[in-house]
Amino acid sequence: FNEIPSGYPEPGKTVVYDVSPKIDPYAVPLNGGFLVKILVLSIDPYMRGRMRDPSIESYQPAFPLGQPIDNFGVGLVVRSENPAIKVGQHLYGFYDFQEYSVYRDLTELRRARVLDNEQTLPWSAYLGVCGMPGQTAFYAWNEFSRAKKGDVVFVTAGAGPVGSTVIQLAKQAGCKVIASAGSEEKIAFLKSIGTDVAFNYKTEKTLDVLLREGPINIYWDNVGGESLEAALEAAAWHARFIMCGMISSYNSVDDHPVKNLSQIFAKSLTLHGFTVAVLHDKYVDRFYAEVPRMVAEGKIRFKEDVSRGLESAGEAILEVQKGRNKGKMVILVAEE
Ligand code: NDP
Repeated sequence: FNEIPSGYPEPGKTVVYDVSPKIDPYAVPLNGGFLVKILVLSIDPYMRGRMRDPSIESYQPAFPLGQPIDNFGVGLVVRSENPAIKVGQHLYGFYDFQEYSVYRDLTELRRARVLDNEQTLPWSAYLGVCGMPGQTAFYAWNEFSRAKKGDVVFVTAGAGPVGSTVIQLAKQAGCKVIASAGSEEKIAFLKSIGTDVAFNYKTEKTLDVLLREGPINIYWDNVGGESLEAALEAAAWHARFIMCGMISSYNSVDDHPVKNLSQIFAKSLTLHGFTVAVLHDKYVDRFYAEVPRMVAEGKIRFKEDVSRGLESAGEAILEVQKGRNKGKMVILVAEE
């Protein structure tokens, strides 16, 4: 991490790809630990929020300048002196963006989980629909939606891993789903996963669609801004708003006031804010028991955008912020 951006992150400036003097990973001392070869790393919208002045408090720590950025990934254990960790195991957890890492034990790898992958999904799936974004969707949908058959649900950033998982959970619950995304390719994907009303918010006004197809009982907000204003205006009485993200403001310098907030009391709306971490312990076991199986059976479908090589990370981060990713963005660091 090289420089704090003021607007959108700039590849080659905000994050730089650096090559240290060649070290032979198979010769480094392990001191009783184990060596992981990192296979895939996740690029997520919230990473923009970590590119900030560390004196500003937030729910996730700022990236330290001059250090590797880190995020969720899947790695393969290639050497081990730790009797609890076996060569050939695949580990999910929080990795520095580098090719190899040495850990003493699993507690050093934040959010570590040994993946058994009984369903033989691609490892990258454990970063999207079967990883943190899928958990976000599954946890908060189950915790907050109180969905009933026939409810009208609106989902923004519908083509991403969070939105597309929510859409499919809502369809399984018998809801009518309206979802927005920013390109025709994404709209085609939304239709392919069962979205009843899919529209491009760049060419059609969100409020017009919601007034025509609503009122809405559940709003899953990934975007904030004008989408939130439209959802407030088109909300039904007692609608539930699940406040997941506000990507429309992540890269802007000014904060814009949100219109229509008075609808919250006028229509007795309930707003649920959350971060995935606060619901993790309650739902994690159920998530891994249910979601990878549903994915393997084709009951939840997903789309990925695979970027090759660690050197592509800076560009991939920008692609997600700009909405140019075509699905869950991952970096393929190495083949097994
Ligand atoms: P996506 O892969 O969907 O990527 C983000 C998408 O947001 C882009 O592809 C783009 O799609 C859309 N977008 C970008 N800028 C704007 C804008 N100005 N207005 C409208 N849409 C925009 O991301 P995820 O599925 O991983 O995440 C979705 C949301 O969920 C994010 O807001 C993220 O921060 C949040 N999140 C929250 C968590 C929590 O714990 N609360 C955990 C994980 C994610 P398009 O082409 O449609 O514009």
